[in-house]
Amino acid sequence: MNEQSWLECIRGCGVKHAIDEVIYQCEQCGGLLDVEHDVDALKQRSAIEWKELFEQRAAVRSGPYASGVWAKKEWVCSQLPLEDIVTFYEGNTPLLNVPTLGKQIGLSDLWVKLCGNSHTGSFKDLGMTVLVSVVNHMIKLGSPIRAVACASTGDTSAALAAYAAAAGIPAIILLPHDKVSPEQLIQPLANGAKVLSLNTDFDGCMRVVQELTQDPSIYLANSMNSLRMEGQKTVGIEIVQQFGWQVPDWIILPAGNLGNVSALGKGLLLMFELGLIDHLPRIACAQAQNANPFYLAYKNGFKQYQPVVAQKSTASAIQIGAPVSYERAVKVMQRFDGVVEQVSEEDLANICALADRSGLYCCPQTGVALSAAQKLAVQSVIKPHERVVVISTANGLKFSQMKTAYHGYRLKDIQVKYGNAPIEIEASMEEVFRNL
Ligand SMILES: *Cc1c(COP(=O)(O)O)cnc(C)c1O
Ligand SMILES: [Zn+2]
Repeated sequence: MNEQSWLECIRGCGVKHAIDEVIYQCEQCGGLLDVEHDVDALKQRSAIEWKELFEQRAAVRSGPYASGVWAKKEWVCSQLPLEDIVTFYEGNTPLLNVPTLGKQIGLSDLWVKLCGNSHTGSFKDLGMTVLVSVVNHMIKLGSPIRAVACASTGDTSAALAAYAAAAGIPAIILLPHDKVSPEQLIQPLANGAKVLSLNTDFDGCMRVVQELTQDPSIYLANSMNSLRMEGQKTVGIEIVQQFGWQVPDWIILPAGNLGNVSALGKGLLLMFELGLIDHLPRIACAQAQNANPFYLAYKNGFKQYQPVVAQKSTASAIQIGAPVSYERAVKVMQRFDGVVEQVSEEDLANICALADRSGLYCCPQTGVALSAAQKLAVQSVIKPHERVVVISTANGLKFSQMKTAYHGYRLKDIQVKYGNAPIEIEASMEEVFRNL
């Protein structure tokens, strides 16, 4: 591949590597690498020309440009040959206005970005299409990669398994035993991945996969691999485009390993640099109180950072104590005047159920973000009239166990506010009427 994008240390050491090199960390300082783009080359198109191009692509119905990620190909991975792209037409997800829910939580202009309406049911598809496409390209060029591997809280593995299967590349999945939902476990199994269930938590799996991928023939698919960030960064760009190129006041998202917030910031900053927007939104990260290292660091102005041992949360996809992209995320928070809020298990469960009452079907992580939105509105950090987008990171259908337990009043230590259990009755019309 040529020099239009390359890998570079996030700490500014200045060492560059080609996109298709098997390397994840700076050799000088150990910092993570980011994909950098030749911004001057991108500036050869004006902001208006970029908008026109992206509007045209939004109408494309087949081929790689029908993907919301690859519609932004020049900003994502310009030099990748179109024929090497592995896509399930990810992205282009609905941005839904939810006025009823908004009113209930004190926000008059509330929107939900439904990233769970995607092939494997989470936003992880956005990044995985880029990573697997590049690996596909590398293998075609003769790279000795024999498998792609990841540690996962459930959704990364589902995405990796599907995209790898489509490309015919073997996938190795490391999951923390008993800490992902049954739906998330069955996805990679069905796609034929090698699934290893480790007797540890996500952070333990992450340590093992980093050792495993020291072997250059096993390619690391976690979000410390910056290729995934390039796909995930399109979500913010897409939101702004869906608002007719208007910037919302706030974007709120659940945060665990902190890859997604880093990606969100990266996409918005590129838009800003290329003149498509003239200011930035504010960003709020939402964490579960039971897994809150980023919240704790925020509270002391990011002066000190201490990983924690994540406690059990129904928001299992963000049950992470040692986020890999911490440094990237701090930079984004500083640039975007960001805030971090934490929420309790009870609040996240109840707000999921409240949101579902207006027709949504929220996963617990989305509940974390909605609950944070409500808390920030109560504190007047977010003003009632401000335009707020909550990123719904996964499809609620992946979390049936949690939702079933909630409506069956079986969620431990939680005061259920909006439960709705089935009523068991005899099969007669009288009984039905008696129970209406
Ligand atoms: C991965 C994931 C997150 C967290 O994203 P990070 O990049 O780890 O911060 C949130 N919600 C869901 C559903 C996820 O799968
Ligand atoms: Zn470095």
